Amino acid sequence: MSQTQDQTIAAPDALCVLFGDQALLSILAALAHEEEETRIVGGALRDALFGRTVREIDLATTLLPEAVMARAKAAGLRAIPTGLQHGTVTLLAGEKTFEVTTLREDVATDGRHAEVRFGRDFRIDALRRDFTMNALSMAPGGRLFDYTGGLADIAARKVRFIGEPARRIKEDYLRILRFFRFSADFGEGPLDSAGRSAAIRQREGLVRLSRERIRAELLKLLCARRAVEVCAEICADGLLHPLLALAPNPARLRRVVAIGAGSPQDPLLRLSALCVTLPEDAERLRERLRLSNAEAERLEAAARALRGLHGLNEPPSHEELLGLLFRHGRQAAIDAILLTQADALPGHEGEWARARKFLIETTEPRLPFSGADMIARGITEGRAIGEALRELQTRWIKAGFPNDPARLAQLLNDMPRGAK
Ligand code: ATP
Ligand code: MG
Repeated sequence: MSQTQDQTIAAPDALCVLFGDQALLSILAALAHEEEETRIVGGALRDALFGRTVREIDLATTLLPEAVMARAKAAGLRAIPTGLQHGTVTLLAGEKTFEVTTLREDVATDGRHAEVRFGRDFRIDALRRDFTMNALSMAPGGRLFDYTGGLADIAARKVRFIGEPARRIKEDYLRILRFFRFSADFGEGPLDSAGRSAAIRQREGLVRLSRERIRAELLKLLCARRAVEVCAEICADGLLHPLLALAPNPARLRRVVAIGAGSPQDPLLRLSALCVTLPEDAERLRERLRLSNAEAERLEAAARALRGLHGLNEPPSHEELLGLLFRHGRQAAIDAILLTQADALPGHEGEWARARKFLIETTEPRLPFSGADMIARGITEGRAIGEALRELQTRWIKAGFPNDPARLAQLLNDMPRGAK
Protein backbone atom coordinates (compact mmCIF):
# COMPACT_ATOMS: atom_id res chain seq x y z
CA MET A 1 0.00 0.00 0.00
CA SER A 2 1.24 3.45 -0.78
CA GLN A 3 0.12 5.34 2.30
CA THR A 4 2.74 6.14 4.87
CA GLN A 5 2.34 6.03 8.61
CA ASP A 6 2.02 9.79 9.08
CA GLN A 7 -1.13 9.86 6.97
CA THR A 8 -2.94 7.31 9.04
CA ILE A 9 -4.22 7.81 12.57
CA ALA A 10 -6.64 6.04 14.89
CA ALA A 11 -10.05 7.37 13.94
CA PRO A 12 -11.60 9.71 16.54
CA ASP A 13 -14.76 8.62 18.37
CA ALA A 14 -16.90 10.84 16.16
CA LEU A 15 -16.02 8.47 13.31
CA CYS A 16 -15.88 5.15 15.15
CA VAL A 17 -19.55 5.52 16.06
CA LEU A 18 -20.31 4.90 12.37
CA PHE A 19 -19.35 1.26 13.00
CA GLY A 20 -22.32 0.99 15.34
CA ASP A 21 -24.49 0.71 12.25
CA GLN A 22 -25.48 -2.94 11.80
CA ALA A 23 -26.32 -2.47 8.13
CA LEU A 24 -22.85 -1.05 7.46
CA LEU A 25 -21.22 -3.92 9.38
CA SER A 26 -23.10 -6.50 7.33
CA ILE A 27 -21.87 -4.88 4.12
CA LEU A 28 -18.28 -4.65 5.32
CA ALA A 29 -18.44 -8.30 6.40
CA ALA A 30 -19.79 -9.34 3.00
CA LEU A 31 -16.97 -7.52 1.20
CA ALA A 32 -14.16 -8.50 3.58
CA HIS A 33 -11.34 -10.35 1.84
CA GLU A 34 -7.67 -10.84 2.70
CA GLU A 35 -6.31 -9.30 -0.47
CA GLU A 36 -8.92 -6.62 -0.93
CA GLU A 37 -9.82 -3.53 1.03
CA THR A 38 -13.04 -1.58 1.46
CA ARG A 39 -13.22 1.76 3.26
CA ILE A 40 -15.75 4.42 4.17
CA VAL A 41 -14.96 7.51 2.11
CA GLY A 42 -15.96 11.10 1.49
CA GLY A 43 -19.01 12.92 2.74
CA ALA A 44 -19.97 10.59 5.61
CA LEU A 45 -16.63 11.12 7.37
CA ARG A 46 -16.73 14.86 6.76
CA ASP A 47 -20.30 15.13 8.06
CA ALA A 48 -19.54 13.03 11.15
CA LEU A 49 -16.48 15.16 11.99
CA PHE A 50 -18.57 18.31 11.68
CA GLY A 51 -21.15 16.75 14.01
CA ARG A 52 -23.77 16.64 11.26
CA THR A 53 -26.22 13.81 10.76
CA VAL A 54 -24.72 11.26 8.41
CA ARG A 55 -27.35 10.60 5.75
CA GLU A 56 -25.50 8.19 3.52
CA ILE A 57 -22.33 6.21 3.75
CA ASP A 58 -20.28 5.73 0.59
CA LEU A 59 -17.69 2.99 0.35
CA ALA A 60 -14.65 2.67 -1.88
CA THR A 61 -13.13 -0.71 -2.59
CA THR A 62 -10.34 -2.46 -4.44
CA LEU A 63 -12.87 -5.15 -5.46
CA LEU A 64 -14.06 -4.92 -9.06
CA PRO A 65 -17.78 -4.13 -9.46
CA GLU A 66 -18.68 -7.68 -10.53
CA ALA A 67 -16.94 -9.04 -7.45
CA VAL A 68 -18.86 -6.58 -5.25
CA MET A 69 -22.12 -7.80 -6.80
CA ALA A 70 -21.18 -11.46 -6.39
CA ARG A 71 -20.00 -11.13 -2.78
CA ALA A 72 -23.05 -9.11 -1.76
CA LYS A 73 -25.41 -11.64 -3.32
CA ALA A 74 -23.57 -14.53 -1.69
CA ALA A 75 -24.15 -12.82 1.66
CA GLY A 76 -27.87 -12.46 0.91
CA LEU A 77 -27.73 -8.71 0.25
CA ARG A 78 -29.46 -7.05 -2.66
CA ALA A 79 -27.10 -5.51 -5.18
CA ILE A 80 -28.09 -3.04 -7.89
CA PRO A 81 -25.64 -2.32 -10.72
CA THR A 82 -26.20 1.46 -10.54
CA GLY A 83 -23.31 2.52 -12.73
CA LEU A 84 -21.19 -0.49 -13.49
CA GLN A 85 -19.02 1.28 -16.06
CA HIS A 86 -18.10 3.87 -13.43
CA GLY A 87 -17.63 1.11 -10.90
CA THR A 88 -20.64 1.89 -8.72
CA VAL A 89 -22.86 -0.76 -7.19
CA THR A 90 -25.65 0.03 -4.73
CA LEU A 91 -26.02 -2.47 -1.91
CA LEU A 92 -29.08 -2.76 0.28
CA ALA A 93 -28.92 -3.88 3.89
CA GLY A 94 -32.14 -3.64 5.85
CA GLU A 95 -33.68 -0.28 4.99
CA LYS A 96 -30.38 1.32 4.06
CA THR A 97 -28.55 1.70 0.79
CA PHE A 98 -24.82 2.04 0.36
CA GLU A 99 -22.93 3.04 -2.76
CA VAL A 100 -19.86 0.94 -3.23
CA THR A 101 -17.44 2.27 -5.84
CA THR A 102 -14.35 0.55 -7.12
CA LEU A 103 -11.24 2.72 -6.77
CA ARG A 104 -10.71 4.85 -9.82
CA GLU A 105 -8.00 6.75 -11.57
CA ASP A 106 -8.69 9.43 -14.16
CA VAL A 107 -7.35 8.75 -17.64
CA ALA A 108 -8.76 11.84 -19.33
CA THR A 109 -11.12 14.66 -18.42
CA ASP A 110 -12.82 17.24 -20.65
CA GLY A 111 -14.33 19.59 -18.11
CA ARG A 112 -17.55 17.63 -17.74
CA HIS A 113 -16.90 13.94 -18.06
CA ALA A 114 -14.01 11.89 -16.83
CA GLU A 115 -12.69 8.75 -18.45
CA VAL A 116 -11.62 6.46 -15.65
CA ARG A 117 -10.01 3.10 -15.15
CA PHE A 118 -10.20 1.00 -12.04
CA GLY A 119 -7.30 1.20 -9.62
CA ARG A 120 -6.10 -0.29 -6.34
CA ASP A 121 -4.61 2.74 -4.65
CA PHE A 122 -6.66 4.66 -2.08
CA ARG A 123 -4.23 7.57 -2.26
CA ILE A 124 -4.84 8.05 -5.98
CA ASP A 125 -8.57 7.77 -5.37
CA ALA A 126 -8.28 10.47 -2.68
CA LEU A 127 -6.29 12.79 -4.94
CA ARG A 128 -8.96 12.78 -7.64
CA ARG A 129 -11.62 13.99 -5.20
CA ASP A 130 -12.44 17.69 -5.08
CA PHE A 131 -11.71 19.15 -1.63
CA THR A 132 -9.41 18.04 1.15
CA MET A 133 -12.35 17.67 3.53
CA ASN A 134 -14.01 15.23 1.11
CA ALA A 135 -11.00 12.95 0.70
CA LEU A 136 -10.68 11.11 4.01
CA SER A 137 -11.07 7.36 4.14
CA MET A 138 -11.53 4.99 7.08
CA ALA A 139 -10.84 1.27 7.17
CA PRO A 140 -13.07 -1.16 9.09
CA GLY A 141 -10.50 -1.48 11.89
CA GLY A 142 -10.90 2.24 12.66
CA ARG A 143 -7.77 3.56 10.89
CA LEU A 144 -8.28 6.94 9.32
CA PHE A 145 -6.35 7.91 6.17
CA ASP A 146 -5.75 11.55 5.38
CA TYR A 147 -3.65 11.99 2.24
CA THR A 148 -4.47 15.64 1.63
CA GLY A 149 -4.57 17.46 4.96
CA GLY A 150 -8.35 17.18 5.21
CA LEU A 151 -8.41 16.82 9.00
CA ALA A 152 -6.56 20.08 9.55
CA ASP A 153 -8.83 21.84 7.07
CA ILE A 154 -11.93 20.48 8.79
CA ALA A 155 -10.60 21.75 12.12
CA ALA A 156 -9.92 25.16 10.54
CA ARG A 157 -13.17 25.09 8.56
CA LYS A 158 -11.33 25.61 5.29
CA VAL A 159 -12.68 24.35 2.00
CA ARG A 160 -9.59 23.83 -0.15
CA PHE A 161 -9.14 22.19 -3.50
CA ILE A 162 -6.89 19.17 -3.64
CA GLY A 163 -3.98 20.19 -5.83
CA GLU A 164 -3.95 23.26 -7.99
CA PRO A 165 -7.46 24.80 -8.12
CA ALA A 166 -7.22 25.99 -11.72
CA ARG A 167 -6.29 22.54 -12.96
CA ARG A 168 -8.95 20.82 -10.86
CA ILE A 169 -11.60 23.22 -12.13
CA LYS A 170 -10.58 22.66 -15.73
CA GLU A 171 -11.14 18.92 -15.21
CA ASP A 172 -14.70 19.54 -14.05
CA TYR A 173 -16.30 22.98 -13.95
CA LEU A 174 -18.99 21.76 -11.58
CA ARG A 175 -16.29 22.00 -8.94
CA ILE A 176 -16.66 25.79 -9.02
CA LEU A 177 -20.22 25.42 -7.78
CA ARG A 178 -19.31 22.67 -5.34
CA PHE A 179 -16.60 24.97 -3.99
CA PHE A 180 -19.22 27.62 -3.26
CA ARG A 181 -21.67 25.16 -1.78
CA PHE A 182 -19.20 23.41 0.52
CA SER A 183 -17.71 26.76 1.56
CA ALA A 184 -21.21 27.93 2.44
CA ASP A 185 -22.02 24.74 4.31
CA PHE A 186 -18.76 23.97 6.11
CA GLY A 187 -16.40 26.90 5.65
CA GLU A 188 -15.88 29.95 7.78
CA GLY A 189 -14.85 33.41 6.65
CA PRO A 190 -14.11 34.42 3.06
CA LEU A 191 -13.67 31.80 0.34
CA ASP A 192 -10.24 30.21 0.08
CA SER A 193 -8.41 32.79 -2.01
CA ALA A 194 -6.63 30.39 -4.39
CA GLY A 195 -9.94 28.64 -5.10
CA ARG A 196 -11.73 31.92 -5.47
CA SER A 197 -9.36 33.42 -8.00
CA ALA A 198 -9.28 30.20 -10.02
CA ALA A 199 -13.11 30.22 -10.06
CA ILE A 200 -13.14 33.83 -11.25
CA ARG A 201 -10.58 33.22 -13.97
CA GLN A 202 -12.46 30.20 -15.27
CA ARG A 203 -16.03 31.35 -14.88
CA GLU A 204 -16.59 30.97 -18.63
CA GLY A 205 -16.56 27.23 -18.02
CA LEU A 206 -19.78 27.48 -16.02
CA VAL A 207 -21.83 27.88 -19.17
CA ARG A 208 -20.62 24.48 -20.36
CA LEU A 209 -22.41 22.76 -17.49
CA SER A 210 -25.84 21.30 -18.03
CA ARG A 211 -28.66 23.39 -16.66
CA GLU A 212 -29.80 20.48 -14.49
CA ARG A 213 -26.43 20.36 -12.75
CA ILE A 214 -26.39 24.14 -12.27
CA ARG A 215 -29.89 23.99 -10.87
CA ALA A 216 -29.12 21.22 -8.40
CA GLU A 217 -25.97 22.90 -7.08
CA LEU A 218 -27.47 26.36 -6.94
CA LEU A 219 -30.51 25.23 -4.96
CA LYS A 220 -28.24 23.39 -2.53
CA LEU A 221 -26.05 26.47 -2.20
CA LEU A 222 -29.09 28.60 -1.40
CA CYS A 223 -30.01 26.30 1.49
CA ALA A 224 -26.51 26.13 2.92
CA ARG A 225 -25.69 27.50 6.36
CA ARG A 226 -23.80 30.54 5.07
CA ALA A 227 -25.70 30.99 1.80
CA VAL A 228 -26.06 34.71 2.42
CA GLU A 229 -22.36 35.47 2.88
CA VAL A 230 -21.18 33.24 0.07
CA CYS A 231 -23.80 34.53 -2.40
CA ALA A 232 -22.75 38.09 -1.61
CA GLU A 233 -19.12 37.19 -2.17
CA ILE A 234 -19.58 35.36 -5.45
CA CYS A 235 -22.02 37.98 -6.66
CA ALA A 236 -19.38 40.65 -6.13
CA ASP A 237 -17.02 38.49 -8.19
CA GLY A 238 -19.52 38.35 -11.06
CA LEU A 239 -20.06 34.61 -10.68
CA LEU A 240 -23.78 34.54 -9.98
CA HIS A 241 -25.00 36.59 -12.89
CA PRO A 242 -23.94 34.17 -15.66
CA LEU A 243 -25.62 31.29 -13.81
CA LEU A 244 -28.94 33.05 -13.39
CA ALA A 245 -28.97 35.22 -16.50
CA LEU A 246 -30.54 37.80 -14.18
CA ALA A 247 -29.02 40.49 -12.01
CA PRO A 248 -28.82 38.99 -8.52
CA ASN A 249 -29.75 40.97 -5.43
CA PRO A 250 -27.82 39.39 -2.55
CA ALA A 251 -28.88 42.16 -0.15
CA ARG A 252 -32.50 41.13 -0.62
CA LEU A 253 -31.60 37.49 0.02
CA ARG A 254 -29.86 38.61 3.21
CA ARG A 255 -32.97 40.48 4.37
CA VAL A 256 -35.33 37.59 3.63
CA VAL A 257 -33.10 35.23 5.59
CA ALA A 258 -32.78 37.79 8.41
CA ILE A 259 -36.57 38.12 8.63
CA GLY A 260 -36.37 34.44 9.49
CA ALA A 261 -39.77 33.54 8.11
CA GLY A 262 -38.48 31.45 5.22
CA SER A 263 -37.32 27.98 6.09
CA PRO A 264 -33.81 27.10 4.87
CA GLN A 265 -35.51 24.04 3.38
CA ASP A 266 -37.26 26.37 0.97
CA PRO A 267 -34.71 27.08 -1.77
CA LEU A 268 -37.35 28.50 -4.10
CA LEU A 269 -38.17 31.32 -1.73
CA ARG A 270 -34.48 32.07 -1.47
CA LEU A 271 -34.16 31.97 -5.24
CA SER A 272 -37.03 34.47 -5.54
CA ALA A 273 -35.36 36.63 -2.94
CA LEU A 274 -32.13 36.54 -4.89
CA CYS A 275 -33.45 37.43 -8.30
CA VAL A 276 -37.20 37.56 -8.91
CA THR A 277 -38.99 40.90 -9.10
CA LEU A 278 -41.19 40.58 -12.17
CA PRO A 279 -43.04 37.59 -13.64
CA GLU A 280 -40.63 37.62 -16.61
CA ASP A 281 -37.77 36.93 -14.19
CA ALA A 282 -39.51 33.72 -13.16
CA GLU A 283 -39.93 32.77 -16.81
CA ARG A 284 -36.24 33.35 -17.44
CA LEU A 285 -35.28 31.17 -14.46
CA ARG A 286 -37.60 28.40 -15.62
CA GLU A 287 -35.62 28.31 -18.82
CA ARG A 288 -32.18 28.88 -17.30
CA LEU A 289 -32.46 26.39 -14.44
CA ARG A 290 -34.92 23.98 -16.04
CA LEU A 291 -37.38 24.52 -13.22
CA SER A 292 -40.41 22.23 -13.10
CA ASN A 293 -43.76 23.79 -14.00
CA ALA A 294 -44.80 23.81 -10.36
CA GLU A 295 -41.57 25.52 -9.32
CA ALA A 296 -41.72 28.15 -12.05
CA GLU A 297 -45.38 28.80 -11.31
CA ARG A 298 -44.62 29.38 -7.67
CA LEU A 299 -42.02 32.02 -8.57
CA GLU A 300 -44.26 33.59 -11.17
CA ALA A 301 -47.30 33.74 -8.89
CA ALA A 302 -45.21 35.43 -6.19
CA ALA A 303 -43.95 37.97 -8.74
CA ARG A 304 -47.52 38.65 -9.92
CA ALA A 305 -48.68 39.17 -6.36
CA LEU A 306 -45.70 41.42 -5.75
CA ARG A 307 -46.72 43.73 -8.57
CA GLY A 308 -49.28 45.63 -6.53
CA LEU A 309 -47.01 45.83 -3.49
CA HIS A 310 -43.83 47.43 -4.86
CA GLY A 311 -42.69 50.40 -2.84
CA LEU A 312 -44.71 49.68 0.32
CA ASN A 313 -42.86 50.37 3.53
CA GLU A 314 -45.49 48.88 5.78
CA PRO A 315 -47.88 45.98 5.25
CA PRO A 316 -51.20 46.52 3.46
CA SER A 317 -54.55 46.44 5.29
CA HIS A 318 -56.30 43.18 6.15
CA GLU A 319 -58.71 43.82 3.33
CA GLU A 320 -55.88 44.12 0.85
CA LEU A 321 -54.30 40.99 2.28
CA LEU A 322 -57.60 39.19 1.72
CA GLY A 323 -57.46 40.44 -1.85
CA LEU A 324 -53.98 38.98 -2.24
CA LEU A 325 -55.16 35.65 -0.85
CA PHE A 326 -58.14 35.62 -3.16
CA ARG A 327 -56.34 36.61 -6.33
CA HIS A 328 -53.03 34.81 -5.91
CA GLY A 329 -53.52 32.04 -3.35
CA ARG A 330 -51.84 31.56 -0.01
CA GLN A 331 -48.33 30.61 -1.08
CA ALA A 332 -47.93 33.49 -3.51
CA ALA A 333 -49.40 35.96 -1.01
CA ILE A 334 -47.02 34.87 1.74
CA ASP A 335 -44.01 34.89 -0.61
CA ALA A 336 -44.93 38.33 -1.94
CA ILE A 337 -45.38 39.86 1.50
CA LEU A 338 -41.99 38.55 2.57
CA LEU A 339 -40.32 39.94 -0.53
CA THR A 340 -42.09 43.26 -0.05
CA GLN A 341 -40.86 43.50 3.51
CA ALA A 342 -37.34 42.67 2.33
CA ASP A 343 -37.55 45.51 -0.21
CA ALA A 344 -39.07 47.97 2.30
CA LEU A 345 -37.29 50.41 4.55
CA PRO A 346 -36.58 48.86 7.95
CA GLY A 347 -39.31 49.18 10.59
CA HIS A 348 -42.85 47.93 11.28
CA GLU A 349 -41.44 44.43 11.93
CA GLY A 350 -44.29 43.47 14.25
CA GLU A 351 -46.88 44.52 11.69
CA TRP A 352 -45.18 42.60 8.91
CA ALA A 353 -45.10 39.52 11.13
CA ARG A 354 -48.82 39.94 11.90
CA ALA A 355 -49.56 40.30 8.18
CA ARG A 356 -47.75 37.01 7.50
CA LYS A 357 -49.59 35.29 10.35
CA PHE A 358 -52.88 36.58 8.95
CA LEU A 359 -52.04 35.14 5.53
CA ILE A 360 -51.09 31.80 7.03
CA GLU A 361 -54.19 31.50 9.21
CA THR A 362 -56.98 33.08 7.20
CA THR A 363 -59.16 30.93 4.98
CA GLU A 364 -58.67 31.83 1.32
CA PRO A 365 -61.78 33.75 0.24
CA ARG A 366 -63.79 32.00 -2.48
CA LEU A 367 -66.33 33.81 -4.63
CA PRO A 368 -69.67 32.71 -3.12
CA PHE A 369 -71.51 33.01 -6.46
CA SER A 370 -71.57 30.87 -9.54
CA GLY A 371 -72.97 30.83 -13.05
CA ALA A 372 -76.13 29.26 -11.65
CA ASP A 373 -76.88 32.49 -9.72
CA MET A 374 -76.66 34.42 -12.98
CA ILE A 375 -78.91 31.98 -14.82
CA ALA A 376 -81.42 32.31 -11.98
CA ARG A 377 -81.39 36.02 -12.71
CA GLY A 378 -82.28 35.45 -16.32
CA ILE A 379 -78.80 35.74 -17.83
CA THR A 380 -78.48 32.78 -20.11
CA GLU A 381 -75.90 33.53 -22.78
CA GLY A 382 -72.46 32.09 -21.96
CA ARG A 383 -70.40 35.23 -22.45
CA ALA A 384 -72.89 37.38 -20.60
CA ILE A 385 -72.79 34.97 -17.65
CA GLY A 386 -69.02 35.34 -17.52
CA GLU A 387 -69.17 39.12 -17.69
CA ALA A 388 -71.86 39.37 -15.03
CA LEU A 389 -69.91 37.09 -12.71
CA ARG A 390 -66.78 39.19 -13.14
CA GLU A 391 -68.74 42.34 -12.36
CA LEU A 392 -70.25 40.68 -9.29
CA GLN A 393 -66.79 39.59 -8.21
CA THR A 394 -65.52 43.18 -8.46
CA ARG A 395 -68.40 44.38 -6.31
CA TRP A 396 -67.88 41.57 -3.80
CA ILE A 397 -64.17 42.42 -3.49
CA LYS A 398 -64.98 46.13 -3.13
CA ALA A 399 -67.46 45.23 -0.38
CA GLY A 400 -64.62 43.53 1.53
CA PHE A 401 -65.23 39.82 0.76
CA PRO A 402 -68.44 39.53 2.81
CA ASN A 403 -69.90 36.10 3.46
CA ASP A 404 -73.06 36.77 5.47
CA PRO A 405 -76.17 35.68 3.52
CA ALA A 406 -78.02 39.01 3.80
CA ARG A 407 -75.12 40.98 2.37
CA LEU A 408 -74.60 38.42 -0.40
CA ALA A 409 -78.30 38.51 -1.33
CA GLN A 410 -78.11 42.28 -1.51
CA LEU A 411 -75.03 42.21 -3.79
CA LEU A 412 -76.83 39.80 -6.08
CA ASN A 413 -79.98 41.88 -6.09
CA ASP A 414 -78.07 45.02 -7.01
CA MET A 415 -76.92 43.35 -10.24
CA PRO A 416 -78.86 44.14 -13.41
CA ARG A 417 -81.25 41.34 -14.43
CA GLY A 418 -81.16 39.58 -17.80
CA ALA A 419 -84.12 39.59 -20.17
CA LYS A 420 -86.89 37.19 -19.07
P1 ATP B 1 -23.52 15.54 -0.24
O1 ATP B 1 -23.98 14.19 -0.72
O2 ATP B 1 -23.93 15.90 1.13
O3 ATP B 1 -23.77 16.61 -1.23
P2 ATP B 1 -20.93 14.39 -0.64
O4 ATP B 1 -19.55 14.79 -0.22
O5 ATP B 1 -21.38 13.02 -0.28
O6 ATP B 1 -21.92 15.49 -0.13
P3 ATP B 1 -21.36 13.63 -3.35
O7 ATP B 1 -21.70 14.50 -4.50
O8 ATP B 1 -22.31 12.61 -2.88
O9 ATP B 1 -20.98 14.62 -2.18
O10 ATP B 1 -19.97 12.94 -3.70
C1 ATP B 1 -19.32 11.97 -2.88
C2 ATP B 1 -17.82 12.21 -2.89
O11 ATP B 1 -17.33 12.10 -4.22
C3 ATP B 1 -17.41 13.59 -2.42
O12 ATP B 1 -17.25 13.64 -1.02
C4 ATP B 1 -16.11 13.81 -3.17
O13 ATP B 1 -15.05 13.16 -2.50
C5 ATP B 1 -16.33 13.09 -4.46
N1 ATP B 1 -16.84 13.98 -5.55
C6 ATP B 1 -18.13 14.24 -5.86
N2 ATP B 1 -18.22 15.07 -6.90
C7 ATP B 1 -16.97 15.35 -7.28
C8 ATP B 1 -16.40 16.16 -8.30
N3 ATP B 1 -17.17 16.86 -9.13
N4 ATP B 1 -15.06 16.19 -8.39
C9 ATP B 1 -14.27 15.48 -7.55
N5 ATP B 1 -14.74 14.72 -6.56
C10 ATP B 1 -16.07 14.64 -6.41
MG1 MG C 1 -23.20 12.15 -1.06
